[in-house]
Amino acid sequence: MSATSDDCIFCTIVAGEIPAEVLGRSEHAIAIKDLHPQAPFHALVLPLDHHENAAASAAADPAVIGHLVALADTVARESGNADYRLIANTGATAGQSVFHTHFHVLGGSSRMSESL
Ligand code: ADP
Repeated sequence: MSATSDDCIFCTIVAGEIPAEVLGRSEHAIAIKDLHPQAPFHALVLPLDHHENAAASAAADPAVIGHLVALADTVARESGNADYRLIANTGATAGQSVFHTHFHVLGGSSRMSESL
């Protein structure tokens, strides 16, 4: 387990070293707008601590997943999207490109993007 990873783009966002549009925060997680939205509302929720995927975060601290789901629900509702999808790609073959745990929060679309 490591709290941060030097070559992780999401760790640099958590550290405030590169800009991101922050939609919400909690003690354990932040929500940002996805740089390349795949739905009318597309946020990412990510834990402050670095792990490579949701399963690894859950193994380290199961409560982290609850914090992510709660923040996802808050930012989705605040944007007027009480109905939304939560997606966590796990592994490169499944489409994961950033290896810091995150859930995609997708609203305003009835179909999941094929690129997710
Ligand atoms: P994929 O790129 O296939 O969706 P992931 O599930 O790992 O793979 O998702 C990573 C997400 O992070 C992508 O939707 C991408 O647009 C987003 N992203 C990458 N860099 C940034 C950034 N600097 N700010 C916001 N979103 C980012």
